Amino acid sequence: MRILIKNGYIVSMVSAVRRGDILVENDRIARIGNIDCEADRVIDATGKIVMPGLINAHTHVGMSLFRGCADEHELMTWLENDIWPVENKMTASDVYSASMLSGIEMIKSGTTTFNDQYFFEEETARMAEKLGLRAILSRCIIGEGEEALKRIAEAEALYNNWHNKCDGRIKICVGIHAPYTCPPDTIRRSVELADRLGSPIHIHYLETKDEVKQMKEKYNMTSTEYLRKGGVFNYHVMLAHGVHIDDVSLHTLKDISGGIIHNPVSNMKLGSGFADVRKLRSNGINVALGTDGQGSTNTLDMFEEIKLAAYLQKGMYHSANAISGEDVLKMATIEGARVLGIDSEVGSLEENKKADIIIIGMDKAHLQPVHDIYSLLAYSVNGADVETSIIDGKIVMENRNVLNVDEHAIIRDCERITETLF
Ligand SMILES: [Zn+2]
Repeated sequence: MRILIKNGYIVSMVSAVRRGDILVENDRIARIGNIDCEADRVIDATGKIVMPGLINAHTHVGMSLFRGCADEHELMTWLENDIWPVENKMTASDVYSASMLSGIEMIKSGTTTFNDQYFFEEETARMAEKLGLRAILSRCIIGEGEEALKRIAEAEALYNNWHNKCDGRIKICVGIHAPYTCPPDTIRRSVELADRLGSPIHIHYLETKDEVKQMKEKYNMTSTEYLRKGGVFNYHVMLAHGVHIDDVSLHTLKDISGGIIHNPVSNMKLGSGFADVRKLRSNGINVALGTDGQGSTNTLDMFEEIKLAAYLQKGMYHSANAISGEDVLKMATIEGARVLGIDSEVGSLEENKKADIIIIGMDKAHLQPVHDIYSLLAYSVNGADVETSIIDGKIVMENRNVLNVDEHAIIRDCERITETLF
């Protein structure tokens, strides 16, 4: 299969913006330049932006049904009173439908890769298989004793059943909930699993002040020391949040493989605080962008996250140039790919990389005039401006229609499940 994308503004994220064509052959970008050749499909991208698909580096897509259910609650009360009791009632089929709703939402707002941690995660894998999304998935390991052992066994089964499925589009890693919810024995067994599978680790990390306090009281350690002693940093590690990083922790993070995943909307909404992204990046630490689940973020639109991430650093530093629009776009593409350890395959438009591409039309009142394309993408574009999406060389959305699924049937299904659960 050959797809020729003609005459777009190519935002590769690794070289200057240029007008040109992209030839996709099977799952890869075969050529970028001025191309005239036969193709099975020709997409006219005149007046449109062609860029890498966005990477949502931290999600719980099975949580879509929690959108707007308990907006003004803080993290611990929110989890204990609003989230966990309902999650305990959810079936595998509920998680599949909730994941489908999220999958459609992600594709329709420009995300092509997501890094997810939840339960019944094989249902999320089935969603990614069906919709054509690229995914890194993990079964959330949390708690202690028999409960934790059961979850670790499920995490391993998920790996055995799904790792590298769908031509490698689906990868499985080890997902640990957080330092404060996992005692040393659970961390040790999770790390043993990562070792056995050769997998990266995805974990919530220094999200709230309360976590800092709890770790001090329970272990007389910071979360960083706790994870370092538990051997977590010996693996490629994807650390979600990193809101409360002290200077000693920052020093430790300089040596890790992986990086921090910044979730500005979720952190602000739950009152958790502001991650110092500028400081992390200036210390050579890679920072990805994520939305977290819809319970704490309400939408999976990465363009909202991009805007907020930029505004937040500018506000924190009282400086308009604290971070640039281009830098924040990198966090949602190539730098995000680095944090997830997949930058050799995705995150930029380059020959021989996987063809994960989105196309955005600019012929709209809120996107005119065009002075600077990075500025337009960082501050003006929203998810609904994405018209076409290609993942692994296959068109998954065209003219805003997500292919291979009945979107309205999924919406009706989720309405019905929500009525039963809440
Ligand atoms: Zn999370």
